[in-house]
Amino acid sequence: MMTADDRPTILIADDERLNRTLLAELLQKDYRILLARDGVDALERARADAERIALILLDVSMPGESGYDVLRALRGDERTAGISVIFITGQSSEADEEFGLRLGAVDYIHKPIRPAILLARVGNLVKLAMQKRDLELVAQRDGLTGIANRRHFDEAIDRACRHAARTGEPVGLALFDIDHFKLYNDRYGHVAGDEALRQVAQLLARHARRPYDIAARIGGEEFALLSPMGDGIVELTDRFCEAVVGLRIPHEASLTTAFLTVSGGTALVAGAGYADFRLRLVEQADRLLYEAKSRGRNQAVHLDS
Ligand code: GH3
Ligand code: MG
Ligand code: MG
Repeated sequence: MMTADDRPTILIADDERLNRTLLAELLQKDYRILLARDGVDALERARADAERIALILLDVSMPGESGYDVLRALRGDERTAGISVIFITGQSSEADEEFGLRLGAVDYIHKPIRPAILLARVGNLVKLAMQKRDLELVAQRDGLTGIANRRHFDEAIDRACRHAARTGEPVGLALFDIDHFKLYNDRYGHVAGDEALRQVAQLLARHARRPYDIAARIGGEEFALLSPMGDGIVELTDRFCEAVVGLRIPHEASLTTAFLTVSGGTALVAGAGYADFRLRLVEQADRLLYEAKSRGRNQAVHLDS
């Protein structure tokens, strides 16, 4: 079996092959290395692997897009905006260096490369980049269940709605609420309640398998499933409701069934032209969730059901 290379990734962008080779040889023992031969290539690789790249070593002077152009483009793209960049330069004045740092580069390295200094500097910056990424991940996770939290959900739905308003593609949203969960806590205690929340959350995460789906805990016993492409949200929601009762978590106090259940409501809204896109999406799903509660719980209601 092949093991995944989980060393930090560094992208090296330099138009001179000799420089690329030198840098790669120095760094490849500790890092996974990606190489780019010009600015366009660098942007493409950065976008394709944005989540794994810890640091970009960027040659300032390259034919076509300069290092400065590349840095501006990286900063302008949500996917790559947070990646740290070090400029590598042969001849730079104080003014050049100030310009690059003000553009957002974290440091400069001067040619000729001094291996020990390069390794030390890269080591420090990669460590910082990893810490920053860990903090960002923690800030997006719900502490109890480990799935996305309210804050991550809010950001994701904003992004999905903005994208949909541009493209006219629909966004799908399902909201869920555990049935008679107060009675569950009263009967089995808060610790068991927490464990049930974890199980329901993990199950929801397993239903959010497509690349852009997001499963989130958005309130105490409230969950959301966001499907930025929209399709399949109704089927997915019905399947999840059935899967929850299928967990067979005993709930003797429930007024619905002998097991823990959820109710759900879905919304599928197409974007173009709706100024209040996000509001409609949430309101519709919320309204149908309460309709599901009043129809007897343990079910999801959709617009046409
Ligand atoms: P309904 O079917 O109408 O949704 O009834 P319900 O009892 O689920 O709704 P209600 O909003 O009255 O109660 C929600 C309960 O969820 C109350 C609260 O104690 C519990 N709860 C919220 N957050 C947590 C949590 O983090 N852990 C535990 N164990 N319980 C929680
Ligand atoms: Mg509730
Ligand atoms: Mg509830």
